[in-house]
Amino acid sequence: MGRVTTEALALRRTPFGETSQIAEFLTRSHGRLSVILKGVHRPRARKGGGVDLLDHSMLTWFSRRNSRAMPQLVERRVLSHHPKLRANVELLQIGEFLVELLRTLTPEDQPVPRVFDLAVATLQALEAGPPSQALGPIVLAAQGGILRLGGFEPVLDRCVVCERRPEAHRMLRCDPGRGGIVCAGCREGRDDSFLLSTTAAEGLRRLARTDPRELEGVALPAELENSMRRASERLLVQVLERQLRCRVPLRERVA
Ligand SMILES: [Zn+2]
Repeated sequence: MGRVTTEALALRRTPFGETSQIAEFLTRSHGRLSVILKGVHRPRARKGGGVDLLDHSMLTWFSRRNSRAMPQLVERRVLSHHPKLRANVELLQIGEFLVELLRTLTPEDQPVPRVFDLAVATLQALEAGPPSQALGPIVLAAQGGILRLGGFEPVLDRCVVCERRPEAHRMLRCDPGRGGIVCAGCREGRDDSFLLSTTAAEGLRRLARTDPRELEGVALPAELENSMRRASERLLVQVLERQLRCRVPLRERVA
């Protein structure tokens, strides 16, 4: 790899010895990557000090070709520390949820420019201090977009088996195990499917294609938002093959 400079978001950090840190970043050009930050805690450290979660920075690291040793930080220039997000518990919890999604659903050592830009856009949307009714749509847009860009998007506009499109004004059956909508003709006895309205299914599809920064003025009816949150959580749990650690962003909205 040699010397590389790219944008990065900090996903995790652990102390290493008395003066150093190991940090995991989502980088735009190399996906997830762990870097050793030697001496960052020393007084007058010249590498930008210790890393905080979700710091957006321009990162330069060095790694020897054909070496298995962890890449070493050369320089780190913080672009945004997200002070408003850090000062608000609800926003910070959404940030932690974003970290969980990125740590689980992004690859190591591959360029991920679109997922990276979506993550930065989500943080910018939160940092702008949106009204509380916009938080649900922002979370759903981030979650749906990360799944979509990672190739894990559920099929919500047609039957996942026969590809027939549902008619308007109908309740659909969504089967997480089969990856989306299953029509009556294609269901096989008992399954784990749940009811989902065409409106909620279409809403999830559209949000997965929307820039979170455009959602500041959006408010969904509470009942619709809650059904979208429940559906997206079940679909996400299926992809992750485990419960979410960070459940807070999926908390239901009170009408
Ligand atoms: Zn079908």
